[in-house]
Amino acid sequence: MGKVSMGVTVVGAAAICAAGALIMRHRMRISNRCVTAADILKELEEKCATPVSKLRQISDAMTVEMHAGLASEGGSKLKMLISYVDNLPTGDEQGVFYALDLGGTNFRVLRVQLTGKSSIECQEFAEVTIPPPLMVGDSQALFDYIAAELAKFVADESEKFQLLAGRTRELGFTFSFPVMQLSIDSGTLIRWTKGFSIEEMVGKDVVQELAKAMKRQGVNMRVSALVNDTVGTLAGGRYSNKDVAVAVILGTGSNAAYVERAQAIPKWHGPHPKSGEMVINMEWGNFRSSHLPITEYDNSLDADSLNPGEQIFEKMISGMYLGEILRRVLLKMAEKAALFGDTVPPKLKTQFILRTPEMSAMHHDTTPDLKVVASKLKDVLEISDTSLSTRKIVVEVCNVMATRGARLAAAGILGILKKTGRDTVRDGEIPNTVIAMDGGLYEHYTEYRHCVEHTLNELLGDEVGKQVKLTHSNDGSGIGAALLAASHSQYA
Ligand code: ADP
Ligand code: MG
Repeated sequence: MGKVSMGVTVVGAAAICAAGALIMRHRMRISNRCVTAADILKELEEKCATPVSKLRQISDAMTVEMHAGLASEGGSKLKMLISYVDNLPTGDEQGVFYALDLGGTNFRVLRVQLTGKSSIECQEFAEVTIPPPLMVGDSQALFDYIAAELAKFVADESEKFQLLAGRTRELGFTFSFPVMQLSIDSGTLIRWTKGFSIEEMVGKDVVQELAKAMKRQGVNMRVSALVNDTVGTLAGGRYSNKDVAVAVILGTGSNAAYVERAQAIPKWHGPHPKSGEMVINMEWGNFRSSHLPITEYDNSLDADSLNPGEQIFEKMISGMYLGEILRRVLLKMAEKAALFGDTVPPKLKTQFILRTPEMSAMHHDTTPDLKVVASKLKDVLEISDTSLSTRKIVVEVCNVMATRGARLAAAGILGILKKTGRDTVRDGEIPNTVIAMDGGLYEHYTEYRHCVEHTLNELLGDEVGKQVKLTHSNDGSGIGAALLAASHSQYA
């Protein structure tokens, strides 16, 4: 109704006014105002729809790309990187080992004591936020910062561990960026993702960079294993459960790894592993397909990002970006439909001001008048006095974006299960598959996590769905790296 009568007014104004260009601008402005936030929301829902048929197309495309990436180097958007991990932990590993886990937001240092019975006796860790300037500075500054934390960690250890000093401490290094692995303990950086951009580091061996920094900081440690966080999570998961065959990270970024048959990797020309298997780091964040429900918001986010054209799947599903997509939708609603009143709240124009934890808090608001939404809008965006209907729209946008992300992640998982034949009955049996999940998004965003779980079940059906389990592998990536350091120990 409102639209029709406004349209008539515009036509009336056009007849009176003589200056054509002015009329056009006037008409644009008024007709833009006719768009309501509900219209924008409806369009968003349509564009972001992920019916099962679409998810199946996406998982099929994922499977096709997996084959292509395994066939040849550069054969696909999916790098399908060979991890050099051809033996996952058995549970018999023993000794004290360290891990350094460099993700996208924080890094962690941890120490584990392995007792040889699938149990981890002692565990201690320190978590440090990476100062943002270091993410875009130079590699020496970044690695010196990390090595200095390692030095502190070791210096603070109790005497029991100080006694190890006669023997070089061994470290598993979890480095969650695409690396062309050269061996289990060396590899060169292919490119940065997730807000990191240190150009001179690309092409360099990350282990050597860390080793040089450790030397500068006086830390006597040897890097025994360089692993991606997905590979670490897979190893950590396998240590306590032999059915773990896939690992998925949903944190700042997103990625997956799985156990592949060595024979199914045409591009692998190394020795045939005794186990007959090799862990593949998919780098699935860089997946893209014409079937993905990409919106104008995704396109503008990508164009403004540090890595345009790359990591498209990651930009639709992971923690670094969900809040930013939400901000972009709310900004459009503010500009085109005056969602927050006549003026566009200035803070809403700041990129990355709205983080995914805030989005999650708003999405989970169960108060009848959406108090949490009101307070987040006020605290983060300085928007006060919002009406209940405005807050409801905000929650609904959170829901649309989180649901799309979670359902796409589930479709990606189905792609891996298909590739490995774990999505159907095989020789009269359905294999048990456990998927080790980790990352702050999966851990803390309950609605998102439940949606991944429901969607995967919906896609697999009851019979197969019963045999496939998702487990949260807390700290799996760090523990797994320590386990891989143990199985590649120079003292073993
Ligand atoms: P990384 O991916 O850097 O290794 P994490 O696995 O700890 O680190 O994931 C951190 C990310 O998880 C954050 O960038 C954020 O996007 C997301 N996250 C953390 N807490 C929450 C939360 N409460 N709700 C939703 N997302 C969260
Ligand atoms: Mg991590």
